[in-house]
Amino acid sequence: MKTGKRMKMEQRLYVVGIGPGGYEKMTIEAASVLKECEIIVGYTVYVELIRDHFPGKEWLTTPMRREEERCRMAFELAQKGKKTALICSGDAGVYGMAGLVLELNPDYPDVKVNVIPGVTAALSGAALLGAALMHDFAVISLSDLLTPWETIEKRLRAAAEADLVICLYNPSSKKRADYLKKACAIIRAAASPDTVCAYVKQIGREGEEKKIMTLRELAECQVDMFTTVFIGNSQTKRIGDAMVTPRGYRIAGADGSR
Ligand code: SAH
Repeated sequence: MKTGKRMKMEQRLYVVGIGPGGYEKMTIEAASVLKECEIIVGYTVYVELIRDHFPGKEWLTTPMRREEERCRMAFELAQKGKKTALICSGDAGVYGMAGLVLELNPDYPDVKVNVIPGVTAALSGAALLGAALMHDFAVISLSDLLTPWETIEKRLRAAAEADLVICLYNPSSKKRADYLKKACAIIRAAASPDTVCAYVKQIGREGEEKKIMTLRELAECQVDMFTTVFIGNSQTKRIGDAMVTPRGYRIAGADGSR
């Protein structure tokens, strides 16, 4: 059909959170968006987690730390009319790429960006532990690559003083081996050493592991960068092998008194 005008080529970039692990941990929306895309761009580790489920795609991987390069590469592909997805682990808007993509979007004004949510590590980890985040909570990253350490300390102190359950992302790396210990010391100023804490490693991936312990014990733990740490509030308890932060329901008979 002749319309006289050439239809404007659609330029679309999806920023997709794939959840904590492989294909099974993705949302149905994330999986159908990836199924429709021609090109999938991501950090090598995440690409390997889902590659087998999306045959016939063009995959482009970049090493860690090359975030801007990765985003611009995705924009340039989208500009050529290729339906492109940039994937992140967990949720793309939680220490992921969604923010940077939208900050760069003005350089590629014809590209329409869609952010597709995923299950962030705090939520998948809390589910593995039981019900760690049933009440108000704060998520704090211990990475001082982009945030001054003083800011991180201030947030830790404020969250502990407010008796929030605290979820720590990026709790450690080779260069920051003692950051978790430092964070525990700050929280300890406002919380009991017996506070129920936990860590969850490699959620939804090979080597998945969880451990519940006290704040005192957590301070002595060595964890790696594939770990999310949970620090309970003053009401959080251990029930068998579950970490539970009570919502506050009164349960008849549960304490044996009624
Ligand atoms: N966008 C991601 C977070 C990226 S920051 C999300 O929403 O989950 C990287 C940090 O996330 C890690 O240092 C770790 O603390 C946490 N994390 C991400 N995936 C994880 C997994 N599968 N298991 C445990 N922790 C994870």
